[in-house]
Amino acid sequence: MQKGKIGVSSDNLFPIIKKFLYSDHDIFLREIVSNAVDATQKLRTLASKGEYSGDITNAKVEVKLDKEAKTITVSDNGIGMTAEEIEKYINQIAFSGAEEFLDKYKNDANAIIGHFGLGFYSSFMVSSQVDIISKSYREGAKAVRWECDGSPEYMLEDAERAEVGTDIVMHINADSEEFLEKSRIDQILNKYCKFLPVPVVFGKKTTWKDGKEVDTEEDNQINDVAPAWTKKPVDLKDEDYSNFYHQLYPMADEPLFNIHLNVDYPFNLTGILYFPKLKNTIEVQKNKIQLYSNQVFVTDSVEGIVPEFLTLLHGVLDSPDIPLNVSRSYLQSDSNVKKISSHITKKVGDRLAQLFTEKREDFESKWDDLRLFIEYGMLTEDKFYEKAEKFFLFKNTDNKYFTMEEYETLVKTEQTDKDNNLIYLYTSNAEEQFSFVQAAKNKGYDVLVMNNILTAPLINKLEQKYTNKRFVRVDSDVVEHLIRKDDSVKEMSWEEKNELSPIFKAVCPENKDYNFIVDFKDLGETGSPMVITRNEFMRRMKDLSAVQGGMNFYGDLPESLNLVVNTSNPLVKKVFEDRDSAIGTELDSLDTEINAKKAEKSEVDKAKKDKKDEEIPSEVKEKSEELEKTISALKDQRKEKLSAFGKENKLAKQLVDLALLANGMLKGEDLDKFVKRSFELIK
Ligand code: ADP
Repeated sequence: MQKGKIGVSSDNLFPIIKKFLYSDHDIFLREIVSNAVDATQKLRTLASKGEYSGDITNAKVEVKLDKEAKTITVSDNGIGMTAEEIEKYINQIAFSGAEEFLDKYKNDANAIIGHFGLGFYSSFMVSSQVDIISKSYREGAKAVRWECDGSPEYMLEDAERAEVGTDIVMHINADSEEFLEKSRIDQILNKYCKFLPVPVVFGKKTTWKDGKEVDTEEDNQINDVAPAWTKKPVDLKDEDYSNFYHQLYPMADEPLFNIHLNVDYPFNLTGILYFPKLKNTIEVQKNKIQLYSNQVFVTDSVEGIVPEFLTLLHGVLDSPDIPLNVSRSYLQSDSNVKKISSHITKKVGDRLAQLFTEKREDFESKWDDLRLFIEYGMLTEDKFYEKAEKFFLFKNTDNKYFTMEEYETLVKTEQTDKDNNLIYLYTSNAEEQFSFVQAAKNKGYDVLVMNNILTAPLINKLEQKYTNKRFVRVDSDVVEHLIRKDDSVKEMSWEEKNELSPIFKAVCPENKDYNFIVDFKDLGETGSPMVITRNEFMRRMKDLSAVQGGMNFYGDLPESLNLVVNTSNPLVKKVFEDRDSAIGTELDSLDTEINAKKAEKSEVDKAKKDKKDEEIPSEVKEKSEELEKTISALKDQRKEKLSAFGKENKLAKQLVDLALLANGMLKGEDLDKFVKRSFELIK
C-alpha cells in the first residue's frame, strides 16, 4: 500500500470545490460518466490500431445506486488505469494562478472544472470519499485501488478486478443525499447523458406485477447512442427528423421544417435545428436549443453562441470546438464561437431561401408561422436581412403573398405619391378597419396585413433603409389623403376650422385614453359624414414603445384621434343650417361686436406704430390691452355658444356616435344612449 499527497499547488482545493461549486452539483455525474465513455472509446481506438486484442464489442457504462451503502458507482469496461497512470492523471493536478481564477469564476462550476481539467474531482462536491478500482488494458496489468476522502491525502493499493475497466465509487456525503434517490439519478442521466455514444445502463427496466413495480431482466439503457444529428442527412427520412424532434421535446407540436448542419472545416459542428410554430408573441421559449460536446449535454442556454433570433429555434448543436467550460463573456469574444454563430445564421438564411425557391407554395403556407422569426432576424442581424430580402413576404388582405420586389411592381403605378414616395398601405386588423380597407381598395390601392408585435419596428427599419418608401396604416387618414397625388385637395382655412370645431368637439366623448382633434375635409357629397383616423406617427410611436419600452413618453400619452368632418356631406350641412337657425342671429351680433372691437383696437394700435415700447404712452398700452381682453372674451363667448349648441344638437351627436360605432369605439352607456336617441330621431 502506498500513501501520498495529491499534487496540487494549493492545499485547499477540495474545500474550494465544495464551497464554490454549489450551484451545479449535478454535473458530477456527467463528468464521471463522460470519463467512463471516453475510456471505452479509447479502448476501441486501441483495438482498431491492433494495440488491444480483447473483446470490445460490449462497450458499456453502468451506473449503480446502493442506497444502503450510500454509494453511486460508475463502472466501465474501458482502458483502465495502471497505478502509474493514476499517479499521473488523477494525483498530479497542476495548475497555476488558481486562487485568482477561482475567485473570478466562483459561481461558474463549468468554468472551474473546465479550466483545471477537474472533471474527476467534481465527484468530491457530493462525496465524502471516492474510490477508484481500475485494471488497465495493458498486458499483465494488476488491478489497483485508490481511495481519497477529500483531503489532499490519498491511498493507493493492489486490488482485485476480473475485467479490464474502471469503477468509480462515490460515497455520497450527508449534504448530498438527494443523489441517492433513483429518480434524481434518472433525471440527471436523462439531462446530460441521453445521447452519449456508448450504452449507459442504470439498473433494470421495470414492469408492473401484482400492483408493484418490479425489475425485469433487461438492462435499462438510458441513452440513444446514435441520435439523428450524428447521422448523414442522406440516411435520414422526414420521419426520422420528426421522431428525433419528439425525442427532444415530447410535448411540442410538429415543427415546420429543419436544417441539418454538418461542418468539419474550419470548425467542427453538427446539429439539427428545427423551426417551431411561433405564436404571435415572443414568449420565453420552453423548448430550447440544446448544446452538446461530442454528444455530452452541456447547456440549453445558447445565448452568446447563436444570434439572439436563432434562440427561437429548437434542436441540437454539437461542437467540440465551442469552449464549453468557460464563462459566457469569454464565449462571446471567442473567434470560433463567432464563426460558428455566423455560419449558423448563414445556413438558416440559405435554407429559407432554398425552401422559398424550391417550394414556394409550401413556404407561403408556412409563412404566417415563420414570419415573426424572420422579422426578428431581419431586425437584429444585418447579414440575415440581406438574405431575407429575397424571401421575406408581404401578405395582402386577399391572402396573397408577394416578395418585396413583386410587391413594388404591383403597386408602383397606383401608389406613388407626388413626391415620388412609394406608399405601402397596411392594416393591423382587416376586420376592425374594414371600412378603411374597403375605401382604399375602391380607390384601386392594395392593402397589406401587418399585425404582429414586430410590425412597428420592422416598418421603421424598412423606411430607414429605403428612403423613398413609406408605410401608412389605412386608418391614419381619410382615403383621399393616404397617398397625396397633388396639392389640389381643397382645405378649409384654419380660421374656418377653428370656428366650426367647438360644435363637434362638444359631442366628442370624454375619455382619458383618447384625445380628439376635430378636422374638416371635403370628402364629397357621398362620402361619410365623419371619419375617425389615427395619426400614423403618434400611433407608431405608441406601438414602438409597447415593444421596446424606454419610450414611455409616447406610451403614456393618450391616443390622439382625428375626427374628420366631411364638409360636403348633406347631413353635416344640415348641422350647419341648424346652427344658423338656432344661434345665427346671436352669432352675427357677436361677430359685429367683435369686428367693432377689432376696428377700435387697430385704431388705438396705430398710435403704437413704429414706436419703441418705452415711447408708447401708458394709457395707449392699457387701452390696447383692455380691448384685446374684450375681444378674446367675446370670442370665448362665441365658442361657448357654439359648444352649447353642439351639445344640444342631436344630429351632431348622432353623427359622431356613428363614426365611433364604425370604429368599434362606442360602448356601454354611450352605446345605450345612442340606441335610445336613434329611436327618438326615427319617430
Ligand atoms: P479530463 O477528463 O478533462 O482529462 P478528469 O479529471 O476528468 O479530466 O480525468 C483525468 C484523467 O483521468 C483522464 O484524462 C483519464 O486519463 C483518466 N480517467 C478518468 N476517468 C477514467 C476512467 N473511467 N477510465 C480510464 N481513465 C480515466
